[in-house]
This record gives sequence, structure tokens and C-alpha cells, in this order.
Amino acid sequence: MTYRKLIKGFDAFKRDFFGKEVNADYQKLVEEGQRPETLVIACSDSRIDPALLTYSDLGQFFAIRNVAALVPPYGEKDNLHGVSAAIEYAVRALGVKHIVVLGHAGCGGINALATGNYQVEPNTEFEFIEKWLDIARHAKERIDAEMPDADQAYKISTLEQAAVIVSLHNLLSFPWIKSRCDDNVLKIHGWCFDMQQGELYEYQPDRGIFDTVDVTGQDKALLTAQNGLDFFIKNKACCASDAA
Ligand SMILES: [Zn+2]
Repeated sequence: MTYRKLIKGFDAFKRDFFGKEVNADYQKLVEEGQRPETLVIACSDSRIDPALLTYSDLGQFFAIRNVAALVPPYGEKDNLHGVSAAIEYAVRALGVKHIVVLGHAGCGGINALATGNYQVEPNTEFEFIEKWLDIARHAKERIDAEMPDADQAYKISTLEQAAVIVSLHNLLSFPWIKSRCDDNVLKIHGWCFDMQQGELYEYQPDRGIFDTVDVTGQDKALLTAQNGLDFFIKNKACCASDAA
């Protein structure tokens, strides 16, 4: 029935949305092309919808979704790089002004990385997921080393946030992202959404922590080399009771 619901949903879209005067913005986007100012990199998790979370309209942001919202480091050009290709298009062709990495609490990918439990049948191995999660494995190892006595839930929640930091830094390994950040024409931001609490946490590069978004505050999320993973883990290790 779920698949049929998709088909019926399209029918409703065609009947109630497409071509309607009230949705002229949609027609304008179709005719004139997209000019999104933001790239959002989110998890593929079906419960995380960046458009819903931000109450965004069509055309407002370019989106990449993958397991655990990870960004790989700038790499060899002779491999297949779906994520990097989409990042390149957003930055170099569309000229986005912001990139948001949107991690989340309760992420199955991060949980698998943290625990080694991939929830598959015995003797069954995934072919691609473990290798993909290796992007953030050094963060897991640092957390295990820096906070050996913390409980597992706290380590997982720390890793959910640390993985966002890893992705922010990997974004800066792309030379055309680094140069745009240096020129202040592109800003990158780290978010972590807690779907149980309905809270959105934003990485605060000056303090090395994630804090609830300040809806009235100034944009201050320009990342520098001084406030990366080390800074974040040091701050988390210092205040092991404030799990977000
Ligand atoms: Zn996830």
C-alpha cells in the first residue's frame, strides 16, 4: 500500500498543485531555472526532511542526502564521487552562499559506526556502508580514547555531532570551497537535529560546542582550522554532562 500511496500522491500533486495560479513560483522555477543560495547535506533517514525542518519552499536549497550526512574528503578524480559531484555543482555552477551539514540524533549510520552493530543477519555483510562510514571513523576512535568512561549513549550523541565536524573539515579540503570561505563568499554550517526533542543545534565554532539555534542571532559560522574536531572533543570531554 505504501507504494500505491506514492502514486496517489502524484495524482494529488498533478490535480492540486501543478499549473495552479497560486503556485506560480513553481512555474517560474521551471521556466527560469534554479538559483538556490544554500546547499544542504542531510542524512537519507526517512524521518529527516530538511525542507520540512526549515519550512523551505521549492528552489530554496540544493540537497544531497546520504548515509549519516557525511562529506568525503577531496579525493582522487578517477573514482566515482556522487557526493563530491553534487557539491561541485552546487558550489561552482550554482554558486551557493551557504553549505549546511545536517546530522541528527538517533542516526542509524552513526550508531552502527559507534557500536559496530549493523543490524544485519549473521554472516551477512554490507558491501558499501562500512567503508562509507570510515569517513568518520577517526572521530569515533578519538571519542573512545578521550572519554573512555562515558556511557555509550553519550559517546553516540558526541559522535553524531563530531561526524558533522568531520564533514565540515572535509568540505574545506575542496580547494574551491576553501578559497570561497577565505574570501567570505561562502559560509559552512554544522547542524544536528534532535527529532525526539524537536530541537536544532548549531555548531558554535568559537566555543567548540553545538548549541540550540539562536533564531535572532548573527550568522557566525565561518570555520577555521583552529576550531575543528580536536577543539570539539576537548570541549565535550570537559563537560561530559551536557549531551544534546
Ligand atoms: Zn541518519
